Amino acid sequence: MEYRIGVISGDGIGPEIVREAKKVLDQVGKVYGHTFAYDEILMGGISIDKTGEPLTDGAIAQAKASDAVLMGSIGGNTSTSPWYKLPPELRPEAGLLKLRKSLGLFANLRPAYLYNELKEACPLRDEIIGDGFDMVIVRELTGGLYFGKRVTEERGGLKTAEDTLTYNEEEIRRVAKRGFDIAKKRRKKVTSVDKANVLDSSRLWRSVVEEVGKDYPDVTLEHMLVDNCAMQLVKDPRQFDVILTENMFGDILSDEASMVTGSIGMLSSASLNDTKFGLYEPSGGSAPDIAGKGIANPIATILSGAMMLRYSFDLDREADAVEEAVRQALREGIRTIDIMPQQEGGRESVVQVGTAEMGDLIVQRIQKYECVTESEG
Ligand code: NAD
Repeated sequence: MEYRIGVISGDGIGPEIVREAKKVLDQVGKVYGHTFAYDEILMGGISIDKTGEPLTDGAIAQAKASDAVLMGSIGGNTSTSPWYKLPPELRPEAGLLKLRKSLGLFANLRPAYLYNELKEACPLRDEIIGDGFDMVIVRELTGGLYFGKRVTEERGGLKTAEDTLTYNEEEIRRVAKRGFDIAKKRRKKVTSVDKANVLDSSRLWRSVVEEVGKDYPDVTLEHMLVDNCAMQLVKDPRQFDVILTENMFGDILSDEASMVTGSIGMLSSASLNDTKFGLYEPSGGSAPDIAGKGIANPIATILSGAMMLRYSFDLDREADAVEEAVRQALREGIRTIDIMPQQEGGRESVVQVGTAEMGDLIVQRIQKYECVTESEG
């Protein structure tokens, strides 16, 4: 089957890491008999340089015509790049916000997976880590406090600021369905996080999630208050499979969860709407400090490609093959500089490679599996 992938290489390390993800997808295509056709889309600083805008209407139309979009990263050095002397609506990041809005991407997925081989990068104690953890945070992305009415004004002689946290039942239902659908493909547990002991919006959240959960009898649902969840993430992260939560709680919890996994170069993400369409990108930025040096870690982008196979194309076996190839490369001691062991002694059993070599070595490890294996490693 042929899939049309919009590709936003972007700025900084973006083109370097996207190139490797495309290599891996092409190998998946070869091994499993699919064709991936790429359409290059301009966004970010490179688009400003070429068109005067961070994202043109034409680029949005290209993204809409794709089955999914794979992105590297956008932006430059915020202190020195001329892009940051432009008005905010013309800066690189404005392109990404406009794209998310135009495509209605309301569900953000951030996996937090601890590879056995990279355990030493995890700041938690060994007895807490155990065999490692594997969770996905599903965050509502287009509602809540960040999108509510806000005002700063003088009230009774005092400068006063007000932000509004609003959710309607439909906004909650659609992201909850996403969370349960994802749990069905994983270990079948949803932890819905709210502050229902205080907030009305959280009480509505909880009741709608309960209602949606009834359509997924094979998925276990539990509720957790956000303050408790922040503690549990560092006390016992292995208990989580899918964490489903609203925009601001998800913003904070997903950064906390990713910190406990180690390198930013390993973390993939996806933003989905109510069709199969998704925007897939690494969690890190354009890393201007290492751009052009050929040393960036392409794994987060490669794993974002695996998420695209799983969530937009329903190619679970193919996604498993990519994830297993990454695990295999790590097992064999292949590392980019950001995931090299910090201790001198740990370096004897590993080999340091650059961006392109890491991509090539993962390509070589893509194999055909006849059946889906539950996450191992
Ligand atoms: P950053 O994530 O680009 O870099 C932070 C640190 O992590 C740097 O030391 C960098 O070298 C390292 N790093 C990031 N990705 C890596 C990789 N794949 N391999 C190895 N090391 C990696 O964050 P920043 O420096 O704060 O931001 C730089 C630019 O990126 C800014 O313009 C920012 O706005 C933009 N940004 C874009 C996105 C996006 O495109 N979605 C996200 C975050 C930041």
